[in-house]
Amino acid sequence: MNTVNVVGLEIDTRHYINGQRVASAETFTNTSPIDGSFLGEISRGSQTEVDLAVQAAKSAFPAWAALGPKGRGEKLLKLAELVEENIESLAQLETMDNGSLLRSHRRGVMPRVALNIRFFAEWAINELQHPEFETRGHTNKISWDPSGVAALITPWNAPLMLATWKIGPALAAGDTVILKPAEWTPLSASFFADLTKQAGIPDGVFNVVQGYGKEAGAALVAHAGISRISFTGSVPTAKIIAKSAADNLTPVSFELGGKSPCVVLEDADLDLAVELAVEQYDNAGQVCLSGTRILVHESIADEFAIKFKEKAAKIIQGDPREEATQIGPQIHQVHFERVKGFVDRAKESGANIVMGGEPNSELGGLYFRPTLVMNPDPESEIVTSEVFGPVLCMQTFSSDEEAIEMANSTEFGLAAVLVSGNKDRAEKVAKELVAGTIWVNCFFVRDLRAPFGGSKKSGIGREGGNWSFDFYADVKNTVFSPNGWKE
Ligand code: ADP
Repeated sequence: MNTVNVVGLEIDTRHYINGQRVASAETFTNTSPIDGSFLGEISRGSQTEVDLAVQAAKSAFPAWAALGPKGRGEKLLKLAELVEENIESLAQLETMDNGSLLRSHRRGVMPRVALNIRFFAEWAINELQHPEFETRGHTNKISWDPSGVAALITPWNAPLMLATWKIGPALAAGDTVILKPAEWTPLSASFFADLTKQAGIPDGVFNVVQGYGKEAGAALVAHAGISRISFTGSVPTAKIIAKSAADNLTPVSFELGGKSPCVVLEDADLDLAVELAVEQYDNAGQVCLSGTRILVHESIADEFAIKFKEKAAKIIQGDPREEATQIGPQIHQVHFERVKGFVDRAKESGANIVMGGEPNSELGGLYFRPTLVMNPDPESEIVTSEVFGPVLCMQTFSSDEEAIEMANSTEFGLAAVLVSGNKDRAEKVAKELVAGTIWVNCFFVRDLRAPFGGSKKSGIGREGGNWSFDFYADVKNTVFSPNGWKE
């Protein structure tokens, strides 16, 4: 059986290589985090399928590259339209597969998927500058040439959103693509592959190889035929991929984990601060950007904690398909156990857990209650490691300098939230925070023109706007002499 019926859609469970569906002898089982229900047996890729996909992507590359930004743009804009026409199907499918909120998929995430494609297609046509300048009468002409085959390895927490954040610029830059979606959430990529076919994207330009990271993923990133690797995932996996990429000197772009601070200065609007802090539970904490370390000035800490607990106690946890639900389940039993392990060990070491701290027994399954750990030992793993679940820590500070020191004290540097009532002060503190994105009195505002990525162990490189093209394209300078011309 090569298809499964999920939310009324026929989803192909095979790879998508060279415009064809390709089955593997072996499969892996895909289940829904909502209720553990069986979703399908998915083709399990290996070296063989990776070789086929690289071959297909290499063969398709010259013609795709030759189309130029406008020729590619026509097809990519069609693809964006098709995503828009299928928002409801994609939203339902993604929710079944990864357990994130249906209403966010409908209203925010899937429209954003379409934008990820459209934005980069239009950027390549209209915004990418080709500067020219003179050097002693010689003319430098800068161009952005397609680089070859981009390998894209993506995680499960926002599957199609994060995949298209890479697919959009890679295809717009003229690269051909092989996507390896996360093994816990393969379905939206398969549906998306059908849309690329409908959009007239030529065979071999976009390919999907499904499978485990250690098999399909490892074979892909080690392949000598790959010109770029863009990866979003965990630090340990990034280290393995970096070693593999080193053999071929393949350029990498990494967006990794975080343990971001949410810093609340004593002049903050307290209600806003509480609202922003509670938002850090979004997607059941399965967001790399989450400000999971709530750092609050000691003078307002008690009041903040009371208001925070009041608001967090009202969070409605449940089936992500229900309109009222605010947070759903963890993605998978393995991940659920990992999150629970962090909290259990914190308990054993005497940490003060003032909210949650256990699975939601009313719901069962993979639902873990929103948890708050109060004043944990700053050296403990609950403060220093990424939990990737609905687990926040609250700590206090007594000066801006101490807040900055605490905020910068982990090995990560992906993002930071800063809440303050004074603009000058906020600017001073923000300047000292080491992170790729700082949100002042806000959270999750993300413009595709802006650079996005992590400092320290949170990543290598930036994507977004020109930064994406810097990575996916071969940037070239051609220097024309004033001499030697015959006409
Ligand atoms: P997470 O903890 O979010 O699951 P991972 O980094 O393990 O993070 O997974 C993110 C993506 O990386 C997934 O698509 C996974 O299959 C892939 N992956 C895991 N291990 C490897 C590897 N050794 N080589 C390439 N990709 C891998």
